[in-house]
Amino acid sequence: MNPTLSEIPQLFYSSETGAPIDKCLVCEKHLLDQQEYIIEKAFTNYPGVNTEDLVWEFAICTDCMKTQMDEYSEESERKMTEYFQQNMNFIHQNELRTAQQFDADKWISKCIVKGTPIEECAQFQISAQCVGNLVLFDRTPFMISGEAMDEILQLMSNETLDFFNDFRGKYFPPPEDLSPFFREKDFVLI
Ligand SMILES: [Zn+2]
Repeated sequence: MNPTLSEIPQLFYSSETGAPIDKCLVCEKHLLDQQEYIIEKAFTNYPGVNTEDLVWEFAICTDCMKTQMDEYSEESERKMTEYFQQNMNFIHQNELRTAQQFDADKWISKCIVKGTPIEECAQFQISAQCVGNLVLFDRTPFMISGEAMDEILQLMSNETLDFFNDFRGKYFPPPEDLSPFFREKDFVLI
């Protein structure tokens, strides 16, 4: 079945404006007019308390994403691709797509790698692939838990980890990043 486009769920809106994110984080290109891009958000979660904090959010156009990924070391890029191929499980996404079910909460209800329910994840990132003002419901939206991100980070070279940290420091310097509970080495551009 073909992937399906549907309206951007509010979950992926800008927390500042309450509207879809309209600019690429890196090149500031306008996104809502047929551009292809990815939205990523990271949260910390407080299991049992039922609250979560947004750590960062951004949209990045596919051109900039490619440019950024060129900064990964070859070894890191290969290991990340292998990790995703071996560990990502798209059965849940395929079922939802087949059912034409576009409730984003269902798509991110468990970790795409570990299967852990979202309410049990102390940290997690969510991702959505978009075209203009629509989300491509296909392999995304998905959620990836802190546990899986840790495994990916362990595979990365120091060079790539430096790149992640520089990226985060450049675009989300303190005090923008207000969550003291998010670990220092946490950033994975996926
Ligand atoms: Zn861009």
